[in-house]
Amino acid sequence: MHEFAFAYNIFKVAEATALKYNAKKISEVYLEIGELTLIVPDLLKQSFMMATQGSIAEGAELKIEIVPGKIRCRDCNKISTVTLNQEAQLTGLQLFQCKFCKSKNTEIIDGKKANVKNIKIQE
Ligand SMILES: [Zn+2]
Repeated sequence: MHEFAFAYNIFKVAEATALKYNAKKISEVYLEIGELTLIVPDLLKQSFMMATQGSIAEGAELKIEIVPGKIRCRDCNKISTVTLNQEAQLTGLQLFQCKFCKSKNTEIIDGKKANVKNIKIQE
């Protein structure tokens, strides 16, 4: 389960940060998630609730910001933003087309990362 492993990692990052500041509780966690990670925000929230039970992050709210995917075209060198269509989500197929020259000779340069941007703690 993709989301659970990810939720656990978020928790560990948030926990480490909170401990550094001697926090008693984490109340909010701000996340940036690339659209191309295929992470489902609702599933992630559920997983996060499970992963944080009994910890200092129990009950913390996840604030998720989705970052659009970006590709660079190897043919014309221009950058396009991409969104996943239904089909790509189902098959995991990620072949993106340049919006300028229609080439499929592209590479993903953004949207595959996810990270904790900030947390809100109570001391
Ligand atoms: Zn192109």
